[in-house]
Amino acid sequence: MRKFLVAGNWKMNTNRQSGVALAAEMAAVAKTGEPGVEVLVCPPYPYLLPVADALKGSAVSLGAQDVYFEAPGAFTGAVAVEMLKDCGCQYVILGHSERRHVMGETDEVINRKVRAALRGGLKVILCVGELLKEREGGLTEKVLDTQMQGGLADVSEQDAGQIVIAYEPVWAIGTGVTATPEQAESAHEHLRKWLTSRYNATFSGQMQILYGGSVKADNAESLLGQSNVDGALVGGASLKAASFVPIIEAARKLWK
Ligand code: PEP
Repeated sequence: MRKFLVAGNWKMNTNRQSGVALAAEMAAVAKTGEPGVEVLVCPPYPYLLPVADALKGSAVSLGAQDVYFEAPGAFTGAVAVEMLKDCGCQYVILGHSERRHVMGETDEVINRKVRAALRGGLKVILCVGELLKEREGGLTEKVLDTQMQGGLADVSEQDAGQIVIAYEPVWAIGTGVTATPEQAESAHEHLRKWLTSRYNATFSGQMQILYGGSVKADNAESLLGQSNVDGALVGGASLKAASFVPIIEAARKLWK
């Protein structure tokens, strides 16, 4: 059975003090590893090290929200894979809708980042998802196929084993509008079929596919209870232990 991953994307929020305090609360919630549920937090770059310190000795994993694809060198403002590893990161989020639609990242750029992260030993959470007008135009599956094709270009089955997919419909991110469990399950099922045809059924059956988009305490259980939903990528609700912990608890309950 695939285990759950409950990941918090703090985006450009927190400061050193509040980030460390939040990390310490999460460390207390996930003191020891559990077979069925992994907890991950992804703070902004400047707080990776103090957050890593606060998580020490706990079972909470650490991730970054982006990375550049080049090796260290003359790339002002960029952060390399080696640097994230050096800060204790195990994961990096790539292809988030804000990187795609605010910063203008293309599938080609995302793919270069995916391959660089995998080469350097980071696990990747590759985000895909359609805009509202694409859903309304019946284009959801086509958009997902294009983003999967582009993001996973030249990624072998062995390397893809270090990837988690996050289905994040753009219209549900930070809007308070959540995909229904049926909408999420249908997109996840489609993604799993895509993975089967690109790789194979065994591989596809093992891959974690997270849902992201206004996940909260009151909708987590119904979303995570879908058979192809293996966890959540959580933005707003991950900024307070009081709203993030119930999502972890929902995963724990479903795992039992
Ligand atoms: C996200 O940032 O990936 C996200 C899903 O945000 P929110 O939970 O706030 O919709």
